[in-house]
This record gives sequence, C-alpha cells and structure tokens, in this order.
Amino acid sequence: MSEKKLIVIGGGLAGSEAAWQAAHRGVSVVLYEMRPVRPTPAHKTGNLAELVCSNSLGSLDPNSAPGLLKEEMRRLGSLIIRAGEAARVPAGAALAVDREIFSQQIMEAIRNHPKITVLHEEVKEIPADGVVIMATGPLTSDALGESLRSLTRSDYLYFFDAISPIIDAESINDEITFRASRYDKGETTTSTARWMRRNIMPFMMH
Ligand SMILES: Cc1cc2nc3c(=O)[nH]c(=O)nc-3n(C[C@H](O)[C@H](O)[C@H](O)COP(=O)(O)OP(=O)(O)OC[C@H]3O[C@@H](n4cnc5c(N)ncnc54)[C@H](O)[C@@H]3O)c2cc1C
Repeated sequence: MSEKKLIVIGGGLAGSEAAWQAAHRGVSVVLYEMRPVRPTPAHKTGNLAELVCSNSLGSLDPNSAPGLLKEEMRRLGSLIIRAGEAARVPAGAALAVDREIFSQQIMEAIRNHPKITVLHEEVKEIPADGVVIMATGPLTSDALGESLRSLTRSDYLYFFDAISPIIDAESINDEITFRASRYDKGETTTSTARWMRRNIMPFMMH
C-alpha cells in the first residue's frame, strides 16, 4: 500500500510552516512553489518564505494578540518563529527580521527535511484526491484562483489588507501634536515634554 502524502500548495510563510509541522509529525509532504518558474507581481526571488513587504512580524509582547500567537507558535516548535529569532534585527518590542537570513533559514530546514519534497511548479487546479492545504496567499496564480472560485461557486475572491497612511511631516501642526514612539515605549522627546507641559501639567496643579 502506498504511503499517503499531504500536498501543500504555496511555499510562502503559511505553506512552509504547514509543511514543516506535518513532516515533523511523520507525514510525507509534497510542497509546490511556483516561483521562480512562474513569478508573482510582488516576489523578487524563487526562495521559500520570501517576505514581500514589511520585515516586521509584529509585536512579541505576550499581552498582545500577535505576541500571544507567536508564543503559542514557539511552544509548538514553529519553524517561522525559529527562523525569525535567528534572523532578528533590532525593532523595539517587535520581531523584525533580515529577509535574506529569514528565508534562507526556512529553505535550509525544508530542503533538508527527509519527509518534504519541494517541487517548483504552478498548480493550476485543486487536486481532486488526497489531503491538500492551499497556502497560496493573496497572489494566488490566476489558474488556481479560478479553480478555487469555481469549487466555492463564488463570483469573486477577495483579499483584505490594511494600509498605513503616509503623511508629509511638514504638513503636521506641531502646536496640537507631539512626537512619541508608538505605544509610548520609546524615549520621551523634547516636543513630547513640551506638549505635556502645555496640556497635562496645568490640570495636575489644580
Ligand atoms: C504587495 C504586498 C504587500 C504586503 N505587505 C504586507 C505587510 O507589510 N505586512 C503583512 O503582514 N502582510 C503583508 N502582505 C500580506 C502578505 O502577503 C502576507 O502577510 C503573507 O505573505 C502571507 O503569507 P502566505 O504564506 O499566506 O502567502 P505568501 O507568502 O504570498 O506565499 C504564497 C506562495 O504561494 C505561491 N503560489 C501562488 N500560487 C501558486 C500556485 N498556483 N502554485 C504554486 N505556488 C503558488 C506564491 O509564489 C507564494 O510563494 C502584503 C501582500 C502584498 C501582495
């Protein structure tokens, strides 16, 4: 009887972690990653777990949702967290990484795992048989997106994201604002002190 295999489509962050966790539990995994054979509009390399934008994986504070999630992942032997810690660069309370080192760490672990086979091919249809994890992210190729759309009988597939507004510093009125580090965890700047003197201290004296 042939051994059952898990198919993971997409060798980004989610797919690499899924493949690693399954293989770690003794499951044979075939991991499909279409890059570099078929590029996406944002990725630059053929590497697994390439970060396409921010190099910050968010807060490490276990009292925040992202921090708690990371701690849970760490306790579950997460490859992403292990690679993140190995590739860490200074970023306050956040886990920020050197992209190259991060991706290399993950590739090395995946490629050296005897239970994981990596195939650089585009999967155009959701396989009909077997257990499949789709981890193709927001840049799922058109053909596979179409297959997913038809399977789920949806008119459209959506990707929701947040974006931070970018403001020209010159346009900010210093009389009614103050500078400070996010979450008040950095140093107090001179203008913060000035703002506090003007707005907080008068109330404290009454
Ligand atoms: C331009 C851009 C900027 C972003 N910026 C941020 C940010 O700053 N912070 C943030 O948290 N998130 C950001 N995101 C969201 C980001 O994509 C996710 O945070 C993260 O990459 C999701 O990981 P993932 O594993 O789901 O997808 P990905 O990391 O994208 O991995 C999916 C993989 O599947 C592969 N693939 C796709 N289709 C196929 C197929 N048919 N066959 C085989 N392989 C396939 C792709 O090549 C890719 O490697 C951004 C997304 C985009 C597009």
